[in-house]
Amino acid sequence: MLVMKFGGTSVGDATRFQHVADLIERVRARHPRLAVVVSAIAGVTDALIRLGHQAARGDPGWAATLEALAAQHRRTVDALALPPAEAAALEEALRAGFGQAEAVARAVAALGELSPSALDRLAGFGERWSARILAAVLRARGVSAEAVDADAFVVTDDRFGEASPDLERTRERARAHLLPLLERGVLPVVTGFIGATPEGRPTTLGRGGSDFSATLLGYALDAEAVWIWTDVDGVMSADPRIVPEARTIPELSYIEAAEMAYFGAKVLHPRTLLPCIDRRIPVRIRNTFNPQHPGTWIVPEPRGNGQVKAVTLIKGMSLITVEGRGMLGVPGVAARTFATVAGLGVNILMISQSSSEQNICFVIPAAAAPRVVQALRAAFEREIARRDIEDIWAMDRVAIIAVVGAGLRATPGIAARVFNALGACRINVLSIAQGSSEYNLSLVVAESEAEEAVRRIHAAFYG
Ligand code: ADP
Ligand code: ASP
Ligand code: MG
Repeated sequence: MLVMKFGGTSVGDATRFQHVADLIERVRARHPRLAVVVSAIAGVTDALIRLGHQAARGDPGWAATLEALAAQHRRTVDALALPPAEAAALEEALRAGFGQAEAVARAVAALGELSPSALDRLAGFGERWSARILAAVLRARGVSAEAVDADAFVVTDDRFGEASPDLERTRERARAHLLPLLERGVLPVVTGFIGATPEGRPTTLGRGGSDFSATLLGYALDAEAVWIWTDVDGVMSADPRIVPEARTIPELSYIEAAEMAYFGAKVLHPRTLLPCIDRRIPVRIRNTFNPQHPGTWIVPEPRGNGQVKAVTLIKGMSLITVEGRGMLGVPGVAARTFATVAGLGVNILMISQSSSEQNICFVIPAAAAPRVVQALRAAFEREIARRDIEDIWAMDRVAIIAVVGAGLRATPGIAARVFNALGACRINVLSIAQGSSEYNLSLVVAESEAEEAVRRIHAAFYG
C-alpha cells in the first residue's frame, strides 16, 4: 500500500492535472494498492479565505472573487477535454460545490462575521473541487478512480483553523471507508487539508495541511511509504527561493525533518511526521516537475550525526522582553510569564537568553505581540509599580533562523562558525536559543537581514 500526495502547484492547471495523472498511472503499474491525496489548485485556498473576509466586512466583491474561482475551475475542466459524459458529471459536481460555497459566503455576509468554523468550511472547498477534477481525469484514462471527501473519516477536535486529528478514530473510519474501495480495485482520490469534528462540523488541519492528511492516511492504511510530490527536488539544505545553491538532502530523520518544518521549511507541514513515527513509515519528498530525481527520504534514525543539514527561516515574529534589575529577587517571574502567554493560547517558538540575566526573552508570532505585552503588563502590575520589573516590550519584525542537524549540540565549533559567518557581514544576532533541542541551534535576527543571514550561514557549511 502506497499513499501519494500532490500539492497545489502540482495541480496548477489542466496540463499539470494531466501530468499528475501520468505519474499516478506509472506508479500504479508497480503499486496497485494506491491512494492519492490532493491539495486545492495553487492559490485557491488563499482566494477562499479572502472571500470569507470580504463577505464578513460587507464588501460585495466576495461574489466576484467566487465567480473568478468558478471561472478558473471551468477553464481548467474545459482545457482537459474530457469525454462528454465525464465532463458533464464533473461540471455538475462543481456547480453544486460552488453553490454550497456561495451559500456559506451569503450566511457570512448576512451575519457580518466570519467565525473560525465558517472560515474552515469555506477554506476547505478548494480540495473538494480539485479531488473531483483529478478523479475525472483519471477515469477518462480508464483508471477506476473516485473522489473522497476526507471529512467523512478524518476526525478532529474543534480547534478550527488548526485542528488536531484523533489518530485512532481516524484510522478506524478511514479503513471502514477506503478498504472496500481498494478491495474493488478503486483508486481513492482523497481531499487533503480537511477533516470534521465528531459532530460532523468541517475543520482544517492548518495551512499546508495536505501533507499531514497524507501521512494520516498512510498511518490509517498501514502504507509501506508516503510519497509527497511537490515543486522542488525534495527537502533542501535551505529554501531554494532564498538560497539558489541549496542542495537536496538525500536522507533525513523524522526529528530533523520535523524540526525543519517547525522552524519554517514550508515544504512540509509541521505535524506531517507525527503519524509515521510509531509505525516507522518512511516519507519521501519528490518533484512533480522532475520525477527522475530521487528526492529526499525521511526515515526513523538519523545518520550523519553532528552535521549541519539545513538552515531554515521563519519571518513575522516578535521578540518579547521582560526586564528589570529586581527580577532575580522575585520568585516565579518566568513561570508567571509563560503561564500568562499560555493562557492567551499563544505559541512560544523559542525561549532565549540575551546579554544579561536580568531579563526573559521569547519569540511569538507578531500578530499576538500587542495582546501578550498588554497581558504581561497587567499580570506584573505590582512588580512594575515597585520597579522590580522595569519594562515589558516587543521588538517587531524579527525572524528566527534555525540551523538543523542531529547531534549538533554535542559537536564543537558549530556555533562559532555560525557567529563568524554573521559577524563577517555585521549582522547582529539579537538573541540565541537557550536549552533548545540538540537538533538545532536557533537565533533571532532583524527580519530585514534575515535572508542574507541564511545565505551566509548556508555558505559557511555548504560553501
Ligand atoms: P505544495 O503546494 O507542493 O505543498 P509548498 O509551496 O507548500 O508546496 O512547499 C514547497 C515549497 O517549500 C518550495 O517551493 C520551497 O520554496 C519551499 N521551501 C522552504 N524551505 C524549503 C526547504 N528547506 N526545502 C525545500 N523547499 C523548501
Ligand atoms: N490548500 C491548503 C493550503 O493552501 C492545504 C495545502 O495546500 O496543503 O493551505
Ligand atoms: Mg504545502
